[in-house]
Amino acid sequence: MSVAVVLFTSDLRLYDQPALGAALRGADEVVPLFVRDRGVAEAGFDAPNRRAFLADCLASLDAGLRERGGRLVVRTGEVVEEVCRVVARCGATQVHVAAGVSGYAAHREERLRAALAGDRCALHVHDAVVTAVPPGRVTPAGKDHFAVFTPFLRKWEAAGVRDTGKAPRAVRVPDTVDSEPLPSRAAVAGTSPALARGGEHEARKRLRGWLANGVEAYGEGQDDLSGDATSRLSPYLHFGCLSAAETVRRAREKGGPGADAFVRQLAWREFHYQVLAARPAASWTDYRARGDRWRTDEREIAAWREGRTGYPVVDAAMRQLRHEGWMHNRGRLLTASFLAKTLYVDWRVGARHFLDLLVDGDIANNQLNWQWVAGTGTDTRPNRLLNPLTQARRFDPSGDYVRRWVPELAGLAGAAVHQPWTAPGPDRARFDYPDPVVDLAEGRARFERARGLL
Ligand SMILES: Cc1cc2nc3c(=O)[nH]c(=O)nc-3n(C[C@H](O)[C@H](O)[C@H](O)COP(=O)(O)OP(=O)(O)OC[C@H]3O[C@@H](n4cnc5c(N)ncnc54)[C@H](O)[C@@H]3O)c2cc1C
Repeated sequence: MSVAVVLFTSDLRLYDQPALGAALRGADEVVPLFVRDRGVAEAGFDAPNRRAFLADCLASLDAGLRERGGRLVVRTGEVVEEVCRVVARCGATQVHVAAGVSGYAAHREERLRAALAGDRCALHVHDAVVTAVPPGRVTPAGKDHFAVFTPFLRKWEAAGVRDTGKAPRAVRVPDTVDSEPLPSRAAVAGTSPALARGGEHEARKRLRGWLANGVEAYGEGQDDLSGDATSRLSPYLHFGCLSAAETVRRAREKGGPGADAFVRQLAWREFHYQVLAARPAASWTDYRARGDRWRTDEREIAAWREGRTGYPVVDAAMRQLRHEGWMHNRGRLLTASFLAKTLYVDWRVGARHFLDLLVDGDIANNQLNWQWVAGTGTDTRPNRLLNPLTQARRFDPSGDYVRRWVPELAGLAGAAVHQPWTAPGPDRARFDYPDPVVDLAEGRARFERARGLL
């Protein structure tokens, strides 16, 4: 009886799961294994929101496997040691894993290969799992990655998407391998009160609903802060509850301007993965150093984190992040610009805070978007700065987004909510809301001086 182990990592699903499919084709029995990797916790990447969401993902995966006669095996420890332990226990001759895109994943793969060679067990690494088009598949002539999005997009679109697989009908798991109890979402302390529910079942339901009822209007609505009209699929893509290839394929089948705009955003995700795969150090070091000598003002940084900068649209977005573990993309752009440019604080400070809270917190997309906004990344206009008042008027013209998240300003009507300091004195005395931490013109001038533009 041949046995294969499938190590699940960022691909917590049964549909379009190449590693699982190959294991089932190659062996009589399969151990679907997830290791709660101590290395991830030690790297400071084990934030409560993602831990809770992960618990849902594992529960959903286990339920799906049980419907097919199998079950999930969960272990906690050092990932390579745990895989080797399971291999020894069930006598597996193959281990299947998805190719990762981070430096951490590449290192894990190397160590696994070396450790399994001693056990005479073959390691099979499957491409195209995290992204629809594997990082490095499309490149500019003579280079290992694209540094500019538009030419990347053209080639990425032309590359097409592989055929995506269905979920298996049956999975036979050997009795010899036992599992720890599955982690429970309820046991995780410190999560955001309105955190989304994780798992493949939920992911597929949301994708269906989005393609049926949301995507058509995406082109017009994607930047509307109060409309909240984006897919909210990012955490499901991050944990691999949804296959990126299947998502792209189904959106293309749907067609139309909204679906095209949605696929373009998915391409941004893949753009950042191909940058990170080629430049793993860009997770914490400047992709393009600008000679910045960042400021550190703990009072201002705390005000930003807490959503008390005195700029309502910035504060609304920061409070949404804390409450939901998720923030609208427009909010991410303007809060990041506010920290890295207007306050001129190191982008790493902001990226760290986002990683501590975001349920979709992702090294490639968080760090490289932060770098993009800070002007140390791939933005071709690295010194542009977003004015929070202009952003508020454009993307929250009614002021409803601010009133939802900054209730102390709810009494201010219309767009007046964006500039509470202009309210008459007696009105201002009624709400407990801080004065702006910085004058916008001064912040801009300081940034432009620092970048040598003035
Ligand atoms: C400072 C900053 C930090 C960010 N950190 C993350 C992060 O940690 N994880 C993450 O997944 N995204 C991150 N993003 C990108 C983007 O904000 C989120 O993917 C998006 O808001 C998720 O909401 P949605 O699923 O409703 O997106 P939709 O608007 O419905 O877009 C569909 C999908 O496209 C992808 N996408 C959309 N915009 C981007 C983008 N700018 N870059 C990369 N992928 C994109 C996401 O996978 C998203 O789920 C960040 C953006 C900024 C500016």
